[in-house]
Amino acid sequence: MPGSFADLHIHSTASDGLLTPSEVVGLALAQGLSAIALTDHDTLAGVVEAQAAARGTQLDVIAGVEISSEGSWGDLHFLGFYVDADNAFLAERLRAMQEGRLSRARQMVQRLSRLGMPLQWEEVETLAAGQSVGRPHIARALRNRGYVSSVQEAFDRYIDHGGPAYVPRPRLTPDEVIAAIHRAGGVAVLAHPAHSNAIRYVPDFASCGLQGLEVYYPTHSPEDQHSLLDLCQRYNLLVTGGSDFHGPGHAEGAELGAVCVPPDCVLRLKQIANQSTGRDTRRTPEGS
Ligand code: AMP
Ligand code: ZN
Ligand code: FE
Ligand code: FE
Repeated sequence: MPGSFADLHIHSTASDGLLTPSEVVGLALAQGLSAIALTDHDTLAGVVEAQAAARGTQLDVIAGVEISSEGSWGDLHFLGFYVDADNAFLAERLRAMQEGRLSRARQMVQRLSRLGMPLQWEEVETLAAGQSVGRPHIARALRNRGYVSSVQEAFDRYIDHGGPAYVPRPRLTPDEVIAAIHRAGGVAVLAHPAHSNAIRYVPDFASCGLQGLEVYYPTHSPEDQHSLLDLCQRYNLLVTGGSDFHGPGHAEGAELGAVCVPPDCVLRLKQIANQSTGRDTRRTPEGS
């Protein structure tokens, strides 16, 4: 029954998604989903709007975030579910990440200019309507100017790791990310472990307090799912899954609701979040 499924990995215009949080909620309602987690990159900015849009409906909107980290082999992403958006510790970590993203994006625009592809900073800023400016916004600006024919080409030629316009940004280590999610009362889950080539590090992350694995993900093969389910059993980790929806027809991730988990996954996440012991009750001061 379609109404009982949850998509636990979704982006909006608060980061690099194409739909506003309210539009995401409208689509989830139209599909009859029972729950979604909004998991924008390094920001919780879309959550309040999404929860307001879903108020009074059957849709449960889980406060989520996808926090970037890095292993020696490249990008690593952690999902935080049921995080307290007002938690001062997490808010400060995310604020610092936004600052890092901003100065890094400006440096990348300068490099592109030196490579003969001048962009106005405002073009990138307008595309990044939310707080979390990222390489996808720069890629879209390059495509809009006709310097490349697709976002993928922008990554492949210029802004992927090792590309001539790539600039790294400061990132938290995996244990810092997991700790920040815990401090905000959230459940820490490793996003797309097979896609990130991170399966072999799961035991280390589990010993740092990782609580779940995103087993179901658009690019995970049945074999990947099998080995991840096995790891979940061995290390007592929760199973989650989601589409990584970035917008209709967007190349990254899948369509909203295309990868879902049954409601007992959501129930278990909620139970673990409620049991969370390390919860830090300090809030962001009013008006800050
Ligand atoms: P950033 O967080 O600004 O470094 O950008 C990372 C985001 O860029 C990822 O979450 C993906 O959405 C996208 N991305 C990363 N690598 C690629 C790639 N090779 N091709 C297309 N998109 C990518
Ligand atoms: Zn993204
Ligand atoms: Fe990701
Ligand atoms: Fe994602």
